[in-house]
Amino acid sequence: MDYEAVIGLEVHAQLLTKTKIFCSCSSEFGAAPNTHTCPVCLGMPGVLPVLNRKVVDYTIRMALATNCTIARESRFARKNYFYPDLPKGYQISQYELPIAEHGHIFIEVNGGRRRIGITRIHMEEDAGKLIHDPNRPVSAVDFNRTGVPLIEIVSEPDIRTPEEAGAYLRKLRAILQYLEICDGNMEEGSFRCDANVSVRPVGTDTFGTRTELKNMNSFKHVENALTYEIERQKEVIEDDRELVQETRLWDPDTGVTVSMRGKEEAHDYRYFPDPDLLPLVVDEAWIEEIRSTLPELPDDRRARFVEAYGIPLYDAQVLTSSRPLADYFEACVEHFPEPKTVSNWVMGSILATLKTQNKTVEESPVSPERLAELLRLIDSGVISGKIAKTVFDEMLSSGKPPEAIVQEKGLVQVTDAEAITEVINQVLSDHAKEVSDYKAGKTKLFGFFVGQVMKGTRGKANPKMVNEILKNLLE
Ligand code: ADP
Ligand code: MG
Ligand code: ZN
Repeated sequence: MDYEAVIGLEVHAQLLTKTKIFCSCSSEFGAAPNTHTCPVCLGMPGVLPVLNRKVVDYTIRMALATNCTIARESRFARKNYFYPDLPKGYQISQYELPIAEHGHIFIEVNGGRRRIGITRIHMEEDAGKLIHDPNRPVSAVDFNRTGVPLIEIVSEPDIRTPEEAGAYLRKLRAILQYLEICDGNMEEGSFRCDANVSVRPVGTDTFGTRTELKNMNSFKHVENALTYEIERQKEVIEDDRELVQETRLWDPDTGVTVSMRGKEEAHDYRYFPDPDLLPLVVDEAWIEEIRSTLPELPDDRRARFVEAYGIPLYDAQVLTSSRPLADYFEACVEHFPEPKTVSNWVMGSILATLKTQNKTVEESPVSPERLAELLRLIDSGVISGKIAKTVFDEMLSSGKPPEAIVQEKGLVQVTDAEAITEVINQVLSDHAKEVSDYKAGKTKLFGFFVGQVMKGTRGKANPKMVNEILKNLLE
């Protein structure tokens, strides 16, 4: 039997507000443990939460960017459970009346485009962080993170493959980053994802039993965990065993998912409206004010790149995948207005460099201005495209401007016809045998002669001139 997967994702994104959601403690990452705390976020009895307006602003930004309907009135609820990282014994979250619902985004997979529904977006507070000491039988708790604002973005079960799940997450993260409301760092946990997955025979329209996967801290992990879990579920069904609705942990070392606990139900949490917080009322003016300040979003920017710069859709897709990368490209085009050439270099040498040096584009060792200088040197014939690669590598190691490198290393292209002719004559007299073979019809030796001439000029001869002069001399 053929099966298809049904996948729905729950994403938690940490918002980049200066302070926490219900108190004025700093929400900055990386401070000494328990220094960003106060009676409110430590859950002392009798304190009262006060909602941070900026959290609502940011959530509305995301809601608008993902085509959601914004509730004029929403509520906060208490989600009750016990865990040492949750001092109050409940998490303040939105439950029955979330701030945003019924949205969607588009993803691009295999040249096609799919619409993925967003069920809801709601605000909630983060819990603290437990630190387990491998050398002592104790765990420590850091409450700096309690009360840091999160939004949870729940998708409809519209995703069908692990690849689509990856594309959905990348698009969602790009939107958050374009909006500048979340840094999207999966390793540090500011962008987290739980994946719900079930399988069903192709052609049926009811859903199978789902499992919920946790502990994936990269896009690759999410895709790998889903691929594994889909296969596992198929086997369970084929073996006539029973699928259990449960939460499973992904183990990246062994590449399998392991049962963690039975799936909790909403009623286990005893949700009820938080009596300490008033209903949140958002008026039309507030929404419109935020709408008017939305930046250009990834899909629009991609379309503009194709339109305005005439680059292929694929290039535009890669270049707009992050806002800083798109900014880098545009800054470079401003200084060297040949978009396709710039795109080739950014998608090639620049991205490869960032990858090997494990850097973000903002940390690029070659600035857009410097890259433009290099491209101008090729364009004006000072260096060949091949030598440009050498200059680029030198720019990486020395940080010097391309022009200085070309002068210092004597890399200026040889465009002196006489000098080139001289080298060619030498090559031809050194290879008399090949010359007679060539004349006897073995014309593919032409490339061999070109290679020898380039070798003789240490790659500096103008390739076009070499071709022309060589052709003349051989004829
Ligand atoms: P819970 O908090 O119980 O996990 P949520 O409603 O927050 O419930 O999230 C449920 C997620 O699971 C959604 O993303 C939804 O699309 C997805 N989902 C629901 N049913 C299925 C199913 N049968 N197979 C796969 N995903 C599912
Ligand atoms: Mg869940
Ligand atoms: Zn506090």
